[in-house]
Formats: sequence, structure tokens, C-alpha cells
Amino acid sequence: MPVHLITDNCTGCKLCLRACPYRAIDIVSGKAQFNDNCTQCGACASACKFDAIVLEIAYTPNVDVGQYRGVWVVAEHLHGQLRRGSYELLGEGRRLADKLDVEVAAVLLGDQTADLAQQLFTYGADKVYLGQDPVLAHYRTGPYSNVLAGMINRYKPEIVLISATPQGRDLAPRVAARLSAGLTADCTGLDIDEQERLLVQTRPAFGGNLMATIVCRHARPQMATVRPGVMKTLEPDRSRSGEMVEVPVHLDERGVLAKIVEVVQQETDGRVNLQDAEVIVSGGRGLGKPENFALIRELAEALGGAVGASRAAVDAGWIPAYHQVGQTGRTVQPKLYVACGISGAVQHLAGMSSSDCIIAINKDPTAPIFNIATYGIVGDLFEIVPALTKKLKEP
Ligand SMILES: Cc1cc2nc3c(=O)[nH]c(=O)nc-3n(C[C@H](O)[C@H](O)[C@H](O)COP(=O)(O)OP(=O)(O)OC[C@H]3O[C@@H](n4cnc5c(N)ncnc54)[C@H](O)[C@@H]3O)c2cc1C
Repeated sequence: MPVHLITDNCTGCKLCLRACPYRAIDIVSGKAQFNDNCTQCGACASACKFDAIVLEIAYTPNVDVGQYRGVWVVAEHLHGQLRRGSYELLGEGRRLADKLDVEVAAVLLGDQTADLAQQLFTYGADKVYLGQDPVLAHYRTGPYSNVLAGMINRYKPEIVLISATPQGRDLAPRVAARLSAGLTADCTGLDIDEQERLLVQTRPAFGGNLMATIVCRHARPQMATVRPGVMKTLEPDRSRSGEMVEVPVHLDERGVLAKIVEVVQQETDGRVNLQDAEVIVSGGRGLGKPENFALIRELAEALGGAVGASRAAVDAGWIPAYHQVGQTGRTVQPKLYVACGISGAVQHLAGMSSSDCIIAINKDPTAPIFNIATYGIVGDLFEIVPALTKKLKEP
């Protein structure tokens, strides 16, 4: 058993009781005692100050992979709305689950967020595992990792997908480490090896110059994070419904070290929401100087879109980093992506190549961006961009 008690060290202080999300510990004769609710999530071991509870995390090559079934997607929400990446992951989870002939389930943690479950069914989930507690109202590493690790231990999915958002990037490695499961971060492609029943995970490696294919043969679950904007959302089917599994969760605020004092929205110029934008106009080093981003903004405005940028433009200090598209910036999937004065380096393409329609404007006819562009305009952006804006603004 990975969690065990060293009775001599136990003082009966009850810190572990407060930390346990599953009411799995009783104090009997002044000592902690685990009951049948224990999911071995490890929350008690983290909370114990007396080295009385030990969580053994060791690589176990003999995991019975046959015990694990189903695909899970961890749903993320903000201000009462599911985030776009969760819908995309559900679409991908559905595809993988169909190949494996298993169910796809969403995990919905939060406080009073049960209403979001119907949306998850609409977008492909067969089942929703619901964990609700006031302590889960805002994401915090400790309680979210404890509850998710416990659910995975109890229900044993074979695949767990998490969005590579700041929240997902914090949560996924902690849960993977807790479960000794391994994790493939920032996948750009997922598939199933049907013969071996394995998740085939593709991600850029060596600065984006190589695509690595990773499989996890022995540990379970197979865990991956995927950036928002990479996978396709399914068409909503409002007639779909599914099974809701309410997992009892009991958290004690006193057992959580991190406190949320205030949730502050990052200030932007009001126009950027690259990941949700249907149209993005991006500028690169070809703009020559920061003032010339005005041309990009005007075209974006005329098209009702957002402004993106290459890393060269961001590194030059011409535009803030949250506009950056690419491997180390945002991954986007708009209906229309207009690249102006951007050469098309692999790291830029990694963030925008799945856009539905790409228009490239570049004076160099050999620029690699033309290899993936739907329409290419060879010419001077200082003539072409204002001409396009003018045309679009014509009544
Ligand atoms: C680990 C790593 C991560 C990276 N991550 C990212 C990332 O997330 N996003 C990203 O964008 N880059 C990233 N990069 C950088 C990337 O390799 C390129 O250096 C960068 O994308 C180049 O930006 P650019 O196309 O604007 O500039 P350049 O490559 O210099 O291209 C400028 C283009 O503008 C054209 N041009 C010049 N003047 C005009 C004109 N008047 N009219 C029309 N066209 C003109 C030129 O022909 C040229 O093709 C990363 C690099 C590394 C090593």
C-alpha cells in the first residue's frame, strides 16, 4: 500500500484529517487509522508534520494495465464558463475512446459548477465525475491534485487528458508524480496504437526541430497535456445526455496552505483574446519598427479580429508577449490567420498551422510561410496591408 502509517510517530494531531478529501481517516486511541474510503491520494502524507504518514512513490513495472479502462478529460472552467480547451479535449477524447471502444468521461471539480455537466455531455462526454466543495471554488494546487489523484486511483482510467493552460501545467505533473504515471506535456497529436492499446503521443522536441512520438507502456494512466487550439471541438449535440457520478469530497480550508486573496484579470488592450479569435492578423520582423504595428491593428479591426505577433517582434519589444503566436507563445486555430512580414519559422508554424485559412504577405517569394499558406501575396506589406484595410472599410 503506497500510503502507510508509522504508528510511533503519530501524535493524533488531526492535521491529516483536515487534509483528507475523502474522510478516510479516523483517530482511534489517539492514532490515525485509515478506513475504506482511502483512495491513496497522498494528501495526508503531505499534511503530516511528524513523518508519521508515508506515501511511497516508486516506479512499479508490474502495474496491471488491464485494470485501467476509459478516457478522462479534466474540465477547466473560469467565471462559471468552461474553457475552450476543455471542449477541444473532449472532442479528441471522444475520438480516442471510440477507437478503444470505451467511454469518455469528464472530471468537473469546483463549487456549485454541476450545471456545467450538461455542456460536457453536449460536447461528447458519456460520464461526468463531479467533485464539489467550497474549497475547490478557485483552482489551488493542493486540493485539486489531492482530489484528482484520489479519483484516478479509485476509478482507474487508462488515459487522462489535461489542457496545457497555466492551471493544467501546474496540475498535471503533480498528479502524474503522485501516481507515478509519467506525463507527456504539450502534445500536438494523439492517437491510439490499436494493436498494443497504447496512447501514441506526439510533441515537438529539440526546439521544435523534431517531432517526438512517445508511448507509455507500463505505467497507468497514460497522461498528456494538450495546448488549447490544437484539437478540434465536436459539433454540439444538445440531445446528448450522460451519467453523472457524484464523488463525495470533504475539504477543510484550514488544511490548505495557499489562500486566494483576490482574483485579478490580466489587463490587455481589450482586443486580444487570441485563443478565442476567429480572425487573427499577425505582424513580424518585416514591420521594421513598433509604430508599424498600427497597420496590423487597423487591418485586424477592419476584419473584427485580434492582433498576433511573431517572437521576433515580441523580443524586439514592439508588442507585449501575450500577443505571441507559436511554440513558446499561444497556439491558435482561427478561421483566418493573416501573417504579415513573418518568415514562417517552424516555431511560429507550431502555433498557427492548423488555422482554417492562412494568408501570407511577404516580399520574399521563397519565405517558408508560403509552404503552408492557403493564399500567398508576394509583395511589400506596407502597400498591401493598408490597401486591404481600405478595401474592407469601403461601404
Ligand atoms: C526555442 C524557440 C522557441 C521559439 N518560439 C517562437 C514562437 O513561439 N513564435 C515565433 O514566432 N517564433 C519563435 N521562435 C523564433 C523563430 O525561430 C523565428 O526566429 C521567428 O519566428 C522569426 O520571426 P519573424 O518571421 O517575424 O522574423 P524573420 O524570420 O526575420 O522574418 C521576417 C520576414 O519579413 C519579411 N519582410 C521584411 N520586410 C517586408 C516587407 N516590407 N513586406 C513584406 N515582407 C517583409 C522578410 O522577407 C522575412 O520573411 C522560437 C525560437 C526558438 C529557438
